[in-house]
Amino acid sequence: MSKNQEPHAANIKSPREIIGGCHCQAVRFKANIAPDAVVLRCNCSICSMTGFKHLIVKHQDFVLLLGQANLTNYTFNTCNAKHLFCSICGVKSFYQPRSHAGSWSINTNCIDQFNPAEWTEQDFNGKNWQQAKIDLSKIDSIQD
Ligand SMILES: [Zn+2]
Repeated sequence: MSKNQEPHAANIKSPREIIGGCHCQAVRFKANIAPDAVVLRCNCSICSMTGFKHLIVKHQDFVLLLGQANLTNYTFNTCNAKHLFCSICGVKSFYQPRSHAGSWSINTNCIDQFNPAEWTEQDFNGKNWQQAKIDLSKIDSIQD
């Protein structure tokens, strides 16, 4: 029985379905977010420039609705992260993070009707990536 099919108990919350995409709406996606997922604030070189806030979702819980052909890939440093941005409007609404190889990272700024008050935020020290990954593995239930 998968986690999604467990009977509801007082302390078990359902996955949250979100929908979102880029500014010009060429790229659109939907996803089921684990109830215990937190929003990660990263201070690495690229996230601090773009203000990207991360919501990690397993590949199988994510559906790209529109825009596969519009996605352009930017890589740097180790090239493990695939920074996918819309070739029309330039917005990175989701991408392949280095920290979670089996998941996408969705930009919470690109989610429709996103209410930050409903989510817990947590710092991710991407500037010191190796240590941050170790720290994350101690507390993160979404391990790949
Ligand atoms: Zn776009």
